[in-house]
Amino acid sequence: MRLSELHTGETAYILKVNGNGAFRKRLQEMGFVRGQEVKAILNAPLKDPIKYEIMDYEVSLRRSEAVMIETTMLREEVEQKKKQWQSDAEIDTDEGFTSRTGESSESIIQENRQHKVPKNIKVALVGNPNSGKTSIFNLVSGAHEHVGNYSGVTVDAKEGTLHHQGYTFTLVDLPGTYSLAGYTPEELYVRRYIVEEQPDIVINVVAASAIERSLYLTTELIDMEVPMVIALNMYDELEQSGRKFDYRSLATMIGTPIIPTVGKKGLGIPQLLNEVIRFFASTQQQNASHPHIPYGRVLERAIEIMEREFQHIDITPFRLPLRYICIKLLEGDSEIERIIRQLPNHQNIFARRDKERAYIEKLLHEDAESAFTNARYGFIAGGLEETLSERRYFSETTRKIDAIVTNKYLGFPLFFLFMWIMFEATFKLGEYPMQGIEWLVEIIGNFVRRNMADGPLKDLIVDGIIGGVGGVIVFLPNIVILYLFIAFMEDSGYMSRASFIMDKVMHKMGLHGKSFIPLIMGFGCNVPAIMSTRTIESRSSRMITMLIVPFMSCSARLPVYLVFVGIFFSKYASLVLLGLYVTGILLAVLSARLFRKTLFTEEDTPFVMELPPYRMPTLKSIIIHMWDRSNQYLKKMGGPILLASIVIWFLGYFPRNMQREAAFDLQIETVKRSFTQNRIDEQAKNTMIADIEHIRMTQHQENSLIGQIGKFIEPVMRPLGFDWKISVSLLSGMAAKEIVVSTLGVLYAGNDDNQTSLQERLKAETYPDGRPVFTPLVVIGFLLFVLIYFPCIATIAAIKEESGSWKWAAFSIFYSTGLAWMVALLVHQIGLLVAS
Ligand code: GDP
Ligand code: MG
Repeated sequence: MRLSELHTGETAYILKVNGNGAFRKRLQEMGFVRGQEVKAILNAPLKDPIKYEIMDYEVSLRRSEAVMIETTMLREEVEQKKKQWQSDAEIDTDEGFTSRTGESSESIIQENRQHKVPKNIKVALVGNPNSGKTSIFNLVSGAHEHVGNYSGVTVDAKEGTLHHQGYTFTLVDLPGTYSLAGYTPEELYVRRYIVEEQPDIVINVVAASAIERSLYLTTELIDMEVPMVIALNMYDELEQSGRKFDYRSLATMIGTPIIPTVGKKGLGIPQLLNEVIRFFASTQQQNASHPHIPYGRVLERAIEIMEREFQHIDITPFRLPLRYICIKLLEGDSEIERIIRQLPNHQNIFARRDKERAYIEKLLHEDAESAFTNARYGFIAGGLEETLSERRYFSETTRKIDAIVTNKYLGFPLFFLFMWIMFEATFKLGEYPMQGIEWLVEIIGNFVRRNMADGPLKDLIVDGIIGGVGGVIVFLPNIVILYLFIAFMEDSGYMSRASFIMDKVMHKMGLHGKSFIPLIMGFGCNVPAIMSTRTIESRSSRMITMLIVPFMSCSARLPVYLVFVGIFFSKYASLVLLGLYVTGILLAVLSARLFRKTLFTEEDTPFVMELPPYRMPTLKSIIIHMWDRSNQYLKKMGGPILLASIVIWFLGYFPRNMQREAAFDLQIETVKRSFTQNRIDEQAKNTMIADIEHIRMTQHQENSLIGQIGKFIEPVMRPLGFDWKISVSLLSGMAAKEIVVSTLGVLYAGNDDNQTSLQERLKAETYPDGRPVFTPLVVIGFLLFVLIYFPCIATIAAIKEESGSWKWAAFSIFYSTGLAWMVALLVHQIGLLVAS
């Protein structure tokens, strides 16, 4: 039977995992290996995905993925198979558990401590997501941390330093991975980091609450022969569960020190660091021999044969152990294949490899990749059988909370309630500090304005730089608050539940359950929304989400809508607004499907997502998380946004026509003189000056670079029914959407002295031949254009940062603007046809 046929509460045993390479590999790494017991625990409210328990932890799978797993409910059947498998592989069960490490001699290490050994140790933290790496990192690195800048990857690593017992540690917090197979960006990143940066010691953080699965990564690290110390984190949870774990014996078996820790409270950390120093000293001293994972006779023989192929080849430049290269070749690892292809005689190697793979498949009745994964898990199971007491561990609290938050009826309402609270807090609560910041920016601007001599420099500083900086930091309160929520959701474990219940809906759009949160946030502001796409592990889903977020109508577009809706549609205002929002969502859905079909076609890694037990996050970790993000926002986005604001300011400011300016100054002088000569009263003077300033602004805008560009593109905008003034306001809206309104205010200044509202003026505006500029049709096209086109500069900067390249930022500009143009064109032309 298939795993998907299992009813809630039932248990089955895995016989086989079908599906293509990457997919099968991923499932197997997560513990879906043959012989393993699985229990169906819960269906999501929409019946998909399903939550399973395997290897003492909880994981969710889509129904379509569970179909790929063959199972049986009969214990006898699986027991029988197990015997068969074992004799196939010819595994000598005792073989694995003798350490092959060289004798670690305490006395030598003691000696070393005093001298000779270098005092700097580079340490990398490697482990599963949620194993507590960051907690340990934050604890030890204290205030010295800084965000490392590693080029070309969106996944980031944090670096920090600390001093302990006279040693200086450089500590790196690497992204969480379940394996080093190289299928996901995180896996590749961690693997490359280990190979290229060659850390002196790797601390493998293993979650004691899901030990069997966590040790899979450990076996891969052992294969890579990296000097390693295991931090058995979450030891408190293991103790609470009542299980007994003889970790010392396991440490001897795998030839790797294991130190229990509680990352949350800092217990065991000094011991961990001592062990790192001790181990480091021992690696300095002797040419340490390395423990090996025994893969059973068939695989071991294949490895041996492969090793012989390399007899006369110098592999030192690869900086990888020979055994590892051979194992990975047999597994068909594409990264290693790429490296080996550089060798002159690689044909021979590949030919031999293919032969061995075929041989393995014939003997073991499974492909080589699965064979290795199964052997690794077999090794782990064997090791734990002797050291870990049977009593199973289920977190009662987690079960209780899940029964409510993923409940068929309560799941969605609760989720939307959380979303609503998050949204309100981010944008409503964020508004107060935002106003404060705007006020402060204005004060500073005014101060400079009053105290500096007139001239372009002053204008640059006041309008370009201070205005630009203001544009960057106004979002900061939103981002801080949003990240407070996201950090809480991630650290507590709720985030994966949210994806669990939303996945079915999002999957229909070709997206992942986790894409929902960024999309919702987009209605507030696209910038934090795009930053929050980081929580999506799958790169293609993350990219698609990022590219469709701009269609979520952000709050900055609302003022534009309000002005125009008020002109012609005041009766149906809310209907029109709703229509705009819905159009945005619709375009997002269509674009997502389009992108999935064209740009990001690669098969996504399966949904297999761990549902970690609920844990109360510590205040410290949340604050650090929040601080990191805000800091990053200021550092990384600040530059591009500021630069772009200055560019737009520049385009609007130049060229200055001194003659024209002087003429206006003269006019103003004349008015002032009339006032001093008592020919006009004060009120008349003020209106006249205001009028002159308006005309000055209009003329300036019209002749400025941006005005010229507006006129230049007017022919393109004509078919949409837009004149050059509309085009200019759309251009200036690139800085931020609300600027569209103020630009229109300047350009459609009106020519009489009665101060009518902008809406009145827009309505009254006519072409020279008397036709009105704004008809309901033009307004609809215009509103759609504003909805769809060029996300603002801050959003573009965010897309650039999160996608890691300007390419996608540029793509977003062209795609959205092109789409806006086409939609507006269609609406306008069809409208004209219908009206005539
Ligand atoms: P990372 O994904 O590996 O960086 O894991 P984090 O450091 O973000 O930790 C994930 C969650 O586990 C957080 O809620 C931590 O507070 C919690 N946590 C970390 N270490 C421990 C521990 O030793 N015991 C317990 N009970 N919780 C821990
Ligand atoms: Mg982390």
